[in-house]
Parts: sequence; C-alpha cells; structure tokens
Amino acid sequence: MSITDMFTEVLLDHYKHPRHYGVMENADVVHESANPLCGDELTLYAKFDGNTLSDVMFEAKACAICTASTSMFSEITKGKSFEEVDSIGDIVHSMFKGDELTSEQRHTIGDILALEGVQKLPVRIKCALLVWETWQVIKKDLDQQK
Ligand code: ZN
Repeated sequence: MSITDMFTEVLLDHYKHPRHYGVMENADVVHESANPLCGDELTLYAKFDGNTLSDVMFEAKACAICTASTSMFSEITKGKSFEEVDSIGDIVHSMFKGDELTSEQRHTIGDILALEGVQKLPVRIKCALLVWETWQVIKKDLDQQK
C-alpha cells in the first residue's frame, strides 16, 4: 500500500480542518510533546470536570498523520470520562498492533478508524500515537497531584 492510499478522505479532512484547534485560555493542563523521529510538535490543552475531560484543544506543527490523529482525539474524547478515554485508547493501540477489531470496537473509535492503514507504516505509528502518549503523561501528572 502506498502512502497516498492511506490518506483517506477522513484523514485529509481532519488534517485540513483540524477540530478543536487553537489556544485554550483557561486550560487546567497544557502539555507539550514531540516526536523527534518525524519532527512532530504538539501542544495539548485540557480542561477537567472531576474525572471528565470537559474540553480539549491543541496546536501542532506536525505531519498529516499526527495532526489528523490529534484532531480525531480531541473530537472523540471531549466530554468523556477518563475511563472512556482510556478504553478508546486501548482500542487504538490494538488497532496499531494489527489486531482484528470487532464491529463494536470499530464503531467506538469512529473517525480514528481512518488511521488503520498507518499500521502498515511502523515508523509513522509514533506520529499517530503522540497524542495518546501525551494523554498518558497528563494523567500521570494528575495522579501525582492527588
Ligand atoms: Zn509525524
């Protein structure tokens, strides 16, 4: 499969029109992360309401896969509980491991399914997972503050 084949319409749409893009003025957490392998730089802004991710925004200087993945993350996780976010993350990780997803899992991750083809390009998986790794770091920081 060529790199152009996996740039599905959904992926390109998220890249060209990233959801929740920009600075969040009253964020509870701001976290910067980078993927030196590709040169992706990401700033993730999050707002919490108890154990719910009540708002997510981001800025990125990143490739299409990283930007689209972060846009998809922002769209699907906003308003979800940490547990729900993590269970989506688990499905995303098993997709990139090459596991066969059930139709329920495919339904749960929505647009993120458009990144399925990235699994065939191991060096780019890091691009797609950067936002999920960032989320793990944010959660660890939150746990330490408790
Ligand atoms: Zn990248």
